[in-house]
Amino acid sequence: MVATDEHQTLALDPTSITRFREALHGEVLTPGDPGYGEARRVWNAMIDKRPALIARCAGESDVMRSVQFAHDHNLAVAVRGGGHSVAGYSTCDGGLLIDLSNMKGLRVDAAHGTAVAQPGLRLGEFDRATQEFGLATPLGIVANTGIAGLTLGGGLGWLNGKHGLACDNLLSAHVITADGRLLNASATEHEDLFWGLRGGGGNFGIVTSFEYRLHQVGPVIGGMTVYPLSEMKQVLSRYGELCQGCPDELTTAAFLVIGADGQPAVAITVCYCGPLDAGEDVVKPFRALGSPAANLVKPMSYVEMQASFDAGFPPQRLHYWKAGFLRATSQEAIDVLVEYSTRMPSAMSGIGLQHLHGLASRVTPNETAFPHRFEFWDVPILSQWADPNESERNIGWARDAWAALQPFSEQGVYVNNLGVEGDDRVRSAYGENYERLVALKNAYDPTNFFRLNQNINPLG
Ligand SMILES: Cc1cc2nc3c(=O)[nH]c(=O)nc-3n(C[C@H](O)[C@H](O)[C@H](O)COP(=O)(O)OP(=O)(O)OC[C@H]3O[C@@H](n4cnc5c(N)ncnc54)[C@H](O)[C@@H]3O)c2cc1C
Repeated sequence: MVATDEHQTLALDPTSITRFREALHGEVLTPGDPGYGEARRVWNAMIDKRPALIARCAGESDVMRSVQFAHDHNLAVAVRGGGHSVAGYSTCDGGLLIDLSNMKGLRVDAAHGTAVAQPGLRLGEFDRATQEFGLATPLGIVANTGIAGLTLGGGLGWLNGKHGLACDNLLSAHVITADGRLLNASATEHEDLFWGLRGGGGNFGIVTSFEYRLHQVGPVIGGMTVYPLSEMKQVLSRYGELCQGCPDELTTAAFLVIGADGQPAVAITVCYCGPLDAGEDVVKPFRALGSPAANLVKPMSYVEMQASFDAGFPPQRLHYWKAGFLRATSQEAIDVLVEYSTRMPSAMSGIGLQHLHGLASRVTPNETAFPHRFEFWDVPILSQWADPNESERNIGWARDAWAALQPFSEQGVYVNNLGVEGDDRVRSAYGENYERLVALKNAYDPTNFFRLNQNINPLG
């Protein structure tokens, strides 16, 4: 059996693999085992890697044993929560994949407004369980995404204006560090680590449970109003102005997509999480930005809102993303957005303008490791296609659109939208918190054991 890390090829003897198998409650898969082919897949079909071993962990002790095994055998380690890293960081060629996706335990403490969740949960699974009690924590906007990677990178969703980012609602976490310790990180224990977990990604250890603060949420007024290409410029301009006066309860996004008629369109999407009777008037202007081709805004359950975009992002399509921030929807930026929406090579692609505002923007930049604390639109340029022969065209479109937006974009990028784009972009993602994160990396992972991520190099 051969396992590789980036620098060497290592022989793994069958006896140690057998012992590892026996020690784990979950399974250990190697190439050729039934289930290996399925277990090695991630959401983005562009990523086609073959770990030497996949440890499908059943609990915390399995994760600890896996870390120890990787140490003992000098293996590169990838960690998987929901497997949605578009960059492909939740798998590896050779090495050991520590797969947490079967760890789906969740305990809701409705009386105290908290939930403790294991890292294999998807957003939809978490939301459905907490909504049984009328409660929710801010996560993202596609139900199949993993809570783990999303929370560790920040976590931007429909509740950010009222309740902040996912990471702002993290109360504590169990973390297995590179040296195999199990720590509880919170505002009062290992505070430095707790700071770094809230935006610093998987750089400091493997989180085996997340404790979140919950809020009373739902039903909401949500959904999209779709405007045609002919009105796109005027709609985006007016939309940008309206967002400036948005109450915290209303979080919005604009999606430039290909509509049902095969033509580019813009879907202005709202989620109002305050009292329903007040909400109708608040969302009204967003439904009257032009002559809608479809108007789907209505009161709905929070779970329904969270599932609104699921159909557009099924697993196993090909994806390539480029992303940045817009602080304003200037006419010049709108011209670029509209131009590239008319040049999308694939009808599955789109450009998102996801508004970060309200409470999420008022946290000070160094209170958590997530540094981008001002009002802006996160702009992922989402290339999605099915035919591998079309990859070059689709990747080219995303790159060109991103380059054309650069003159109007802010410095910075959301770490969870970043591809494999080099050190400068990683630094932009961690922004002014980068040096402090390097110091933390040196304290918790000086050998860069956890390096298959948007990596904070201990050498800085
Ligand atoms: C369809 C889609 C929609 C999205 N929508 C949003 C959105 O609305 N808002 C938003 O903020 N983001 C969004 N994202 C980005 C999302 O936050 C990232 O893809 C995130 O990485 C997903 O988490 P995951 O657990 O599925 O990731 P994985 O691919 O499993 O992991 C991502 C990274 O986190 C590390 N990691 C995972 N679990 C752990 C753990 N338990 N401990 C330590 N490290 C770990 C991995 O090693 C890897 O480096 C979206 C992504 C997709 C594909």
